[in-house]
Amino acid sequence: MTLSCCGHGIATTRAVAIGPAFLLDRSPLAIAPRSVDPAEVIAEIERLEEALAAAQRALQAVRDQIPQSTPVKVTEFIDSHLLMLEDAALIEPARELIREQFYSAEWALEHHRVSLGKLFGEMEDPYLRSRQDDVDHVVQHILGFLLGDRTSDADEDAELSGCVIIAHDISPADTVVLKHRGVAAFVTEFGGPMSHSAILARSLNIPAVMGVRNITSYIRQGETIVVDGETGVILADVDAGILEHYQQRIRRLEERRSHLQRLVREPSISRDGVPVSLLANLELPEDTVAARANGAAGVGLYRTEFLYMNRDGLPDEEEHLAAYLEIIHGLDGIPVTIRTLDLGVDKQVDASPASCSQVCNPALGLRAIRLCLKDPGLFRPQVRAILRASAFGPVRLMIPMLSSMQELSSTLELIGQVRNELEQEGQAFDPKMPVGGMIEVPAAALSAKAFARRLDFLSIGTNDLIQYTLAIDRVDDRVSYLYDPKHPAILRLIRMTIEAGQARGIPVSMCGEMAGSPCCVPLLLGLGLRELSMQPGSLLETKEIVRGAHIAHLGRATQELLDRMDDMEPEQLTETINRLGDFCQ
Ligand code: PEP
Ligand code: MG
Repeated sequence: MTLSCCGHGIATTRAVAIGPAFLLDRSPLAIAPRSVDPAEVIAEIERLEEALAAAQRALQAVRDQIPQSTPVKVTEFIDSHLLMLEDAALIEPARELIREQFYSAEWALEHHRVSLGKLFGEMEDPYLRSRQDDVDHVVQHILGFLLGDRTSDADEDAELSGCVIIAHDISPADTVVLKHRGVAAFVTEFGGPMSHSAILARSLNIPAVMGVRNITSYIRQGETIVVDGETGVILADVDAGILEHYQQRIRRLEERRSHLQRLVREPSISRDGVPVSLLANLELPEDTVAARANGAAGVGLYRTEFLYMNRDGLPDEEEHLAAYLEIIHGLDGIPVTIRTLDLGVDKQVDASPASCSQVCNPALGLRAIRLCLKDPGLFRPQVRAILRASAFGPVRLMIPMLSSMQELSSTLELIGQVRNELEQEGQAFDPKMPVGGMIEVPAAALSAKAFARRLDFLSIGTNDLIQYTLAIDRVDDRVSYLYDPKHPAILRLIRMTIEAGQARGIPVSMCGEMAGSPCCVPLLLGLGLRELSMQPGSLLETKEIVRGAHIAHLGRATQELLDRMDDMEPEQLTETINRLGDFCQ
C-alpha cells in the first residue's frame, strides 16, 4: 500500500467521502501598483472590459445551474453580485483611472475597491457596512480573470458536484452555497469542531475535517482525496487497497444508517419506562424533511441566522413569517422552537470570515440578544413574525445568549409590546406561546433559578457554554483539544440548570452539540435531562441509546460521579463517564 500524502485535523462529521480535490482559494489577490504607457490605454480598458464580461458570464453560468428548488436566499446572493457586475459605478471610476492616470486595469480596479471600502467603512448602519464584503468578492472575481491564472476564480462556474473542497476557511454562508452545488466533503486549514460551519456541515451530513494546517499547499487540484470525518484523517493519492478499505467504510456507515431506520416509529422510552423527548436542530426550512425522516418529536432549535445570509438587505416581517410557516407546514403538527437572531462571531451574514476579526473580541461583543436589543428595528419584525406564526401551529420563542436579568426584562418587555401591537391590529397569534431562554453563558447557568422564574422553558447551549466557561474559542482549532464537554465545571453548570428548571416545574432541554454525542447521552440522562435536541442525523442513534438505558440506575451512578469528581484524576473521570454506557444496553 502506498500513500504519497496525508494530513490530520479535527474530525467534524461522522461520515467518510472520496472525491476529486477542488482547491477553493479565498485568500485575497495581492495587486501591485503598475502604470501603462499612454499608447496602451485603449487596450488596457479593453482588457478590463473583457475581464468584466468573463466574470459576468461565469457567474451567470452558475446562476443558470442552480435548481429551481434552491432557497431564495442562495440565489439572491448570486443575483446581487450579478447586478453589481452590471453597475457602471463599479467599473467607470476604474476606466477613468486608466484613461487619466495610466493605471493598469488591475491597479485601477483595486484602487477603486479601496476607495469604496473607505466609503462603506464610514457608514453608520452595520448592515450597509458589511456590504463592503460583496464589493470585495465581486472585484476579486474580476481580478481573477484579469490575472488569468487563478483556478479559484473559476470556482463560481466550476462543476463541484462530488468534489472535496480544500480551503483555508469556510464560512457558514459558503457552506450552504457549496452544499447546494453538491460537494462531497470539506477540508479546511482553520476552524474548530463547534464552529457554525462545522455544525452546519454535520447537519447537512457532509463529511468535514477542520484545522488541517497547510493542506491547501500540498494537495493538487483534481487528485483523489479520502476524507474521514470520523477520525480526522485526510489521504491523497491512495492505492487501490486503501481506496477499497474506505469504500467499505462508506458501505458500513450506510448499512448502519439503514439499520437504525427501524427505530423511526418506535417510542423514545428508556428500559425503565422514562420518556425522553428527542428533538431536531434545524438551520434551513428544508431541514424539516430530515427531521421528520428521523422521527423527531419536534424542533428544539431553529437557527434563524441563515435567513439573513447570502442575500442583499434584511428579511422583512413577511419573509420571516413565510419561512416559519414553511417550517410549521413541513413539521406537520410537531412543535418548533424558533430561536431569535444570533448573529455575530462566526455567524456573519456574508461569506467573509474576515469580518469577525474587525472587532477586538467578537465572542464577547455585540452578539445575539445584545445585538437585537441594541437594534429593535432588526429585532421587532422577527418577534412579530414568530408571534404571528404561532397562530398556525405549536411555536415556542427562544432567546439566545442571555447573561443578565436586565436583558431578559428588556426582551420580555419588547415581546409584550409586540403582543399589544398585534392585538390592536387584529392579527392572530397564540397568547400562550411559550417564551424560553438559552443557558449558554456561565452567568446564566449560575443564575438559572432567576431565569427559570420568568421563562417558560430553558435550553442549554453547550457549544457556547463550554466556550465561555473554559475560555476556549470554539472556532479556533489550536485550542480545540481543551474543549471538553465533560469538564467538571460544565457538568456542574448543566446540573444547576436542570435543578433550577425542575424546581420551577418548567422543561429544560439541551440543544448544543453535546446532546447528540453518543458518548455524552448516558451522562445527560443521568444528570436528569429528558429533552435533547440535535442535528437530525443523530436522532436515531440517540434513540437507540435511550431505549437501552436504565435511567434510575444512570441517575444514581451519575450522582455518585458528581459527588466524587473533584477527587478524581481526569483519566478516572473519563473512564467513569464512559462506564455509564453500561447502563444503556
Ligand atoms: C449553543 O451554543 O450550544 C447553541 C446551540 O447555539 P449556537 O451553536 O447556534 O451558538
Ligand atoms: Mg450558542
